[in-house]
Amino acid sequence: RKKWRKVVNVLREFEEGCETRVERLKQVVDAMAVEMHAGLASEGGSKLKMLLTFVDNLPNGTERGTYYALHLGGTNFRVLRVHLGGQGSSISEHEVERQPIPQHLMTSTSEDLFDFIASSLKEFIAKEGDGSKADRRELGFTFSFPLKQMSVSSGILIKWTKGFSIVNMVGRDVAACLQDAFSRKGLDVRVSALVNDAVGTLALGHYHDADTVAAIIIGTGTNACYLERIDSIIKSQGLVTASGRMVVNMEWGNFWSSHLPRTVYDIDLDFESPNPNDQGFEKMISGMYLGDIVRRVILRMSSESDLFGPISPKLLVPFILRTPSMAAMHEDDSPDLREVARVLNDVFEIPDAPLKARKMVVKVCDVVTRRAGRLAAAGIVGILKKIGRDGSGGITGGRSRNDMKMKRTVVAIEGGLYSSYTLFKEYLHEALEEILGEDIAKHVILKVTEDGSGIGTALLAASYSS
Ligand code: ADP
Repeated sequence: RKKWRKVVNVLREFEEGCETRVERLKQVVDAMAVEMHAGLASEGGSKLKMLLTFVDNLPNGTERGTYYALHLGGTNFRVLRVHLGGQGSSISEHEVERQPIPQHLMTSTSEDLFDFIASSLKEFIAKEGDGSKADRRELGFTFSFPLKQMSVSSGILIKWTKGFSIVNMVGRDVAACLQDAFSRKGLDVRVSALVNDAVGTLALGHYHDADTVAAIIIGTGTNACYLERIDSIIKSQGLVTASGRMVVNMEWGNFWSSHLPRTVYDIDLDFESPNPNDQGFEKMISGMYLGDIVRRVILRMSSESDLFGPISPKLLVPFILRTPSMAAMHEDDSPDLREVARVLNDVFEIPDAPLKARKMVVKVCDVVTRRAGRLAAAGIVGILKKIGRDGSGGITGGRSRNDMKMKRTVVAIEGGLYSSYTLFKEYLHEALEEILGEDIAKHVILKVTEDGSGIGTALLAASYSS
C-alpha cells in the first residue's frame, strides 16, 4: 500500500516539475525573443548563437537544372537528386537513397566519415542512367551541426551535437573536408552550398510558399532558423545583402531560460551527458532525449517500490529506451496496454508488470511529451514575436495593436518526432493556439515537408551555383 503511494508521489512531483501552464509558456516566449536579440547584438551575447548563414535569397521557383544534396542528420544519411524545370514548376523526379550512419563513424576520424559520405555519393551517381551525364555536378551539403560560416559554401564546425564526437573536425571547414574526400574518390562535384538542415527546410518551404518565414527541425535534435532583416543583425555591422535580409540559424537547441520547467531527471541527464550545460532546450524537447527522461522516472519508481519487480539492470542503461518505443507505449490504446507490456519486457526485461504499473508508464510518457510539445510551441511563438508575427506588434515593432494586421505566416517543420509522434504534434498545436489565441493562431500555418531539408539544400545549390 505504502509503496504504491510512493510511486504516486514520484509521478506527482514529476508532473509538478514539468508544469507548463500558458502563463509560463508566455514567459518562455518572451525569454526566447529576448535571447534572440541578445544573440544578434553581440558575439557570445546569448546562449543562442544566432549564426549567419549567408543565405540572403531563398529559392523562388526559377531555378533550373539537376542538382544533388547530401544530408547528414542525427541518425540517417541521405543522398538525393532533383531536377528543376524553372518557372515555378514542381520539383520533378527527386530520388533519394537513405541509410543509417554506421555507429563507429560518429566517433571516428573526419577522413573516415567523409570517405563514407563520398563513397555513397559515388555509388548513387554510378547508378544514374546516361540521361544525366552532367559535366560538373553541383551539390548542396546539409550538415546539421553548428557552423560558423564564412560564405554560403564554407563554414567551420563549432561543436558536435547529437552524440557525434570526431575530434579532428571542430574548427575545420566542413565543405573543404567534403571536397577533399571527393578528390580522393575521383568525384568531379562542387560543393556550392553548405547549410544547416533547418535552412534547407526553410528553402524548400519558401520555394512552395512565399509566406514561409521560419523553419523548425524536431527530430533526433532540434533547431530553428528564420529570415531576419540585415539591420537587426547588429553584431555584423557593415554586412550588406541585395535583399536586405539573411537567414539566421538560431541553434535553438542551446536555448536556456530559468522559466523552463526543469526536474531532477533533467539535471541528472544533463550532468551525465557528454555535453553538460549544453543544448538545454534540446535535452527537453528532442527525440534523442525524451525516452531517456522516461527511463529515469521509471527507474526512480522501480527503486521506490516493487511495482516493477526487482530493479532491472536494464533500467540503469542510458538511452536504452528509444523515443519511438516510448511513443509506442504512449499511443497504446489496447485496454490491457499490451504494447506497454511488450516494451517493458523487450527493452527493460521487466516481465509481467501489473496493469497499474503500465498505466503509470503511459502517464510518465505523457508528461514528458506534453512538456516537450508545449515548450517547442513556445519557442516557435518566440520567433514569431521577434519578427512581429505573433499579433502583438513585436518587441521592436512599435506599431499599435490597432493598425496591426496579422499576415499569413508559414513555418516549415520537419523531423521524425513531429512527423511520427502524433501526440507530440497535437500537444504542440494545442499550445500554439493557447499562447497565440485562436484569432492569431489561425494565421499561423505549420507545414511539414518530407525530405525538405535535403531538397531545399539542392535548391540552394541551384541558387548559388557557379
Ligand atoms: P534525424 O536523425 O536526421 O533528426 P529524423 O528527422 O527522421 O532524423 O528524426 C529521427 C528521430 O525522430 C528519431 O531519433 C526519433 O527520436 C524520432 N522518431 C522517429 N520515429 C518516431 C516515432 N514513431 N515516434 C516517436 N519518435 C520518433
